[in-house]
Amino acid sequence: SIGKTKNNEKADRATVEQAIDPRTRMVLFKMLNRGVFNDINGCISTGKEANVYHATKSDGQELAIKIYKTSILVFKDRDRYVHGDYRFRHGYCKHNPRKMVKTWAEKEMRNLLRLKAAGIRCPTPLLLRLHVLVMEFIGKAGWAAPRLKDAALSQDKLREDDNDNADIISKVQTGTWRSERGHLYIIDVSQSVDLDHPHALDFLREDCLHVSDFFKKHGIAVMTVRELFDFIVDPTITGENVDSYLEEVQRKIEARGDLSTEDEIADSVFVQNTGTCEECRRGHQRITSGEDTGDMYYQTITGLKHVLPQSATVQENEGQKQVERP
Ligand code: ADP
Repeated sequence: SIGKTKNNEKADRATVEQAIDPRTRMVLFKMLNRGVFNDINGCISTGKEANVYHATKSDGQELAIKIYKTSILVFKDRDRYVHGDYRFRHGYCKHNPRKMVKTWAEKEMRNLLRLKAAGIRCPTPLLLRLHVLVMEFIGKAGWAAPRLKDAALSQDKLREDDNDNADIISKVQTGTWRSERGHLYIIDVSQSVDLDHPHALDFLREDCLHVSDFFKKHGIAVMTVRELFDFIVDPTITGENVDSYLEEVQRKIEARGDLSTEDEIADSVFVQNTGTCEECRRGHQRITSGEDTGDMYYQTITGLKHVLPQSATVQENEGQKQVERP
């Protein structure tokens, strides 16, 4: 039985060390020597794409180290995100797994920096070497904050998070949500794409569906997938009118109660409609170039169209705080 235990230990170690090939070990070793961190305490997660480790600095600061896997198996799925991303038209080497993971780590780093720049909560990226990304640890005393789907949150909190989320996705696509000290943090953004990506809006539609499904499952009345999508792509919604817009949406959701079968069907048609993407792009161009958009397919849903012009009026008239409804 002692032999068995030993083997188990070996197996455990092999699992934990899967991602730590000699090259990775060297990167970590150099980081240790430079004092980037003092200890690697253990593995937080062994995922399909990466393993994540918890580390601490000499001053006690906690860090997360994400080490991408070089295994070829995971690339097929990633390819649809990278293909078409103008940031990777050069230097993306399909036949060299090591270069590919490096690209993925770079993508994650850049996307995290972009989130930061947009004022969205996410782990602060600290250092990138090859396929090893060191970032701020979201959690406390070695315990990673729970994923949104694992966090035991009250309905009120979830409702708050839903608004938070709608706001976040309007600025970012793809990613996982974590909740920490009552806030949502976005993690895992190596697959986020730029708006120029030919499938950007398709990915967005999928994300809207996932977010909407999540909150629906928890019994929170949410925007339809279409409404959420519209909210995000509507360029006339700005920092100034977003609150009144969301208040109006909230009133609409409360008034309608559960979704009607018609709404549900319209939503699933929308989700499955792969033609919408191109239409949205054209629509977006028309709006930004000031063309007439009266007949536009994806224009903000009926019943909410009036919110925007009115919100604009509210901004002009400083004395009036509330959006008046007809
Ligand atoms: P993968 O692409 O392998 O899913 P993620 O970035 O989603 O990798 O990370 C996997 C898990 O590792 C997360 O669910 C979370 O538990 C943990 N994790 C990742 N980054 C952090 C971080 N910055 N702070 C705390 N935990 C993290």
